[in-house]
Amino acid sequence: MYYVSTRGSDEKISSAEAIKRGIAPDGGLYLPNEIPALTDTCLKGLLDKDYPSRAAEILSMFLSDDYTLEELKADCNAAYSQSSFPGGAAPVVKVGENLSVLELWHGPTCAFKDMALQLMPRLLSRALVKTGEKNRAFILVATSGDTGKAALEGYKDIDNIDIMVYYPRDGVSTVQKLQMATQGGKNVYVCSVEGNFDDAQNGVKAIFGSSDIAERLKKEGYILSSANSINWGRLVPQIAYYISAYCDMVVSGEIKFGEEINVTVPTGNFGNILAAYIAKNMGLPINTLVCASNKNNILTDFFETGVYDRNRSFYTTVSPSMDILISSNLERLLSMKCGTSRTAELMRQLKETGRYELDADTFKTVKYGFDGGCCDEEKTFAVIKDIFGRYGYLCDTHTAVGVSCAMDYMAKCDGKRKMLAVSTASPYKFAPAVYTAIAGKTVDELEAPELLSALTSTDIPLPIKGIKDKEIRFDPKASIKADKMADAMFAALKEIASR
Ligand SMILES: *Cc1c(COP(=O)(O)O)cnc(C)c1O
Repeated sequence: MYYVSTRGSDEKISSAEAIKRGIAPDGGLYLPNEIPALTDTCLKGLLDKDYPSRAAEILSMFLSDDYTLEELKADCNAAYSQSSFPGGAAPVVKVGENLSVLELWHGPTCAFKDMALQLMPRLLSRALVKTGEKNRAFILVATSGDTGKAALEGYKDIDNIDIMVYYPRDGVSTVQKLQMATQGGKNVYVCSVEGNFDDAQNGVKAIFGSSDIAERLKKEGYILSSANSINWGRLVPQIAYYISAYCDMVVSGEIKFGEEINVTVPTGNFGNILAAYIAKNMGLPINTLVCASNKNNILTDFFETGVYDRNRSFYTTVSPSMDILISSNLERLLSMKCGTSRTAELMRQLKETGRYELDADTFKTVKYGFDGGCCDEEKTFAVIKDIFGRYGYLCDTHTAVGVSCAMDYMAKCDGKRKMLAVSTASPYKFAPAVYTAIAGKTVDELEAPELLSALTSTDIPLPIKGIKDKEIRFDPKASIKADKMADAMFAALKEIASR
């Protein structure tokens, strides 16, 4: 197996090289040249294993050209330890008759990005050694909120790697802002950017695309790498939890071995759901993947019409990690379904006009196995209240968008198959909105966790307890303009080196 760009330059590289680079020189994303098969024997063999062992074996199917199973086992054991994931790495909770929830937020930052970002730094650290890299790696991240904190936690004080996170000043919650502003670690820097997530992400993409900047960095002894979900090292750990969840549903008796399920994923950048699609392609018995969007429903329209059009209003919602109009990982789906030259052409159109339109045949191919749904703000609040009232299950705003689309899909299309809805954040990470949904009134953002806990008799996760007493290290009010992101990066490098 080797890795190639979604846009089809013919360079073939190894998995460690793909993880080191993040993005391909032609602007494309890396994908393996083939998807490994998950045989029944292989899947059965995973049933009685714990999460780290399952994950190591699945990762090995994609990374064995460069990584030994022993290395992957060591990394997965360290990443998904009991101390990092006190509630279990990826537990499945039965909520309703045919509805189970896959909770991916028991890690250090209470959001699903920990699943990938506790592991990826270890993969990158090894990749630097395996590829004979002499320079230090500098990780650049644009975040819609959760990635930033999860990347900072994953990379802090890792040898030979520094990390800088840019977040949109107007697009993250107070808690998310505080989490990042109070980040510890010698090798980290955090910067607030004027604008929304796409502005920050475009800025990071521009830095990655500039050979001038790369040259300047090299002179100073650095290479750039990304922790965004465009990096294969981010994506591959996410495949594991879909397979693990299926195993858990078999073990608990919720489904029979081989029985098909449907899966709903609250979607922004399309990374999480793409991992589910790859698991399905490997042979995991999944029928339909429901792509759940909030009011920024560009993907719902895409799966309905075959037109991807980002010339539209951008909304700031109560599920900010899904407030995205450029779903970067959709490029991987296009490449897998319609090939690299078509993808390169579509991406060129998207860049030039902000829009592309699939012809009828291509649309049919791309849409196959997917369904799109969306959930507006009002309904997000209603679903949180309804699910808590009916089942005693407390979910966050992102999860509520997913659960809403899952229930719509079950009512309209398929009520028979079991539905696995992915839960991407702890309700306490978005406590003010969750509190408002249940109590019907607004609260002070920083008081919300305690009030929510008292109201619902649930516990506040440790990483959120006491956040307001932590010392601010990176002033959230000192934001920079999006066109100054490269300058800010060079300044940060100097500062980190001088610590
Ligand atoms: C990042 C994130 C999402 C969106 O995931 P993608 O992989 O970008 O589609 C959904 N919910 C939460 C809480 C997130 O942090």
